[in-house]
Amino acid sequence: AALFSGTAIPCNAAAKAVGTGKYIALTFDDGPSVYTEQLLDILDKYNAKATFFVTGNSEYRSLIGEAYRRGHAIGVHTYCHEYNKIYASEDAFYEDFFAMQEVIKEQTGEYTNLYRFPGGSSNTISNFNKGIISRLAQQLTDMGYYYFDWNVISGDAGDTTKTSVVKQNVIDGCSGFKYPVVLQHDIKGFSVAAVEDILIWGHDNGYVFSALSETSPSAHHTIS
Ligand code: ZN
Repeated sequence: AALFSGTAIPCNAAAKAVGTGKYIALTFDDGPSVYTEQLLDILDKYNAKATFFVTGNSEYRSLIGEAYRRGHAIGVHTYCHEYNKIYASEDAFYEDFFAMQEVIKEQTGEYTNLYRFPGGSSNTISNFNKGIISRLAQQLTDMGYYYFDWNVISGDAGDTTKTSVVKQNVIDGCSGFKYPVVLQHDIKGFSVAAVEDILIWGHDNGYVFSALSETSPSAHHTIS
């Protein structure tokens, strides 16, 4: 496998978890998209930081750099987001992974040490290649990467297309965890539309919205 030989460095050292109080990690997968710019503006309005697990097949690529410069954390998600391709073999996985790293480097000036498995680390989509997630999780950890799953599901991946439901799912979900890590997708307009209300609710309830970093509690799923 084409293993990474360099040192993984933090993508956006400025975007660290702040303080010791209540915090929420909003994470947005699969972008950037046509909705990402407005999302960045909403986050700025409430001085909230988030984490973007980004993809390569996007005409809005430059928003990866834009998000980074506005203080958000950038993580690798996948270049192509085709499960059958990336989980076919470790070589195929790393080809996709490092292609995405290069896009991130091109847009932000640095590589990232944050990662999210497409489908999450507990996905069963990769079952056609038994054990690959366990091997990858170990290798990525050994290479200095931090992979993040989530513990709060917004429902925007198929359960709902309603902004009000996304909002309620996130609010209910965050209340149940000490370190909520929320999964949303910034390729979904109805989901992005819920963010302002979520930020207002969070501020009213004493939460700080902060980006993930290597010091964040990891919210790992159990690998299937
Ligand atoms: Zn995804």
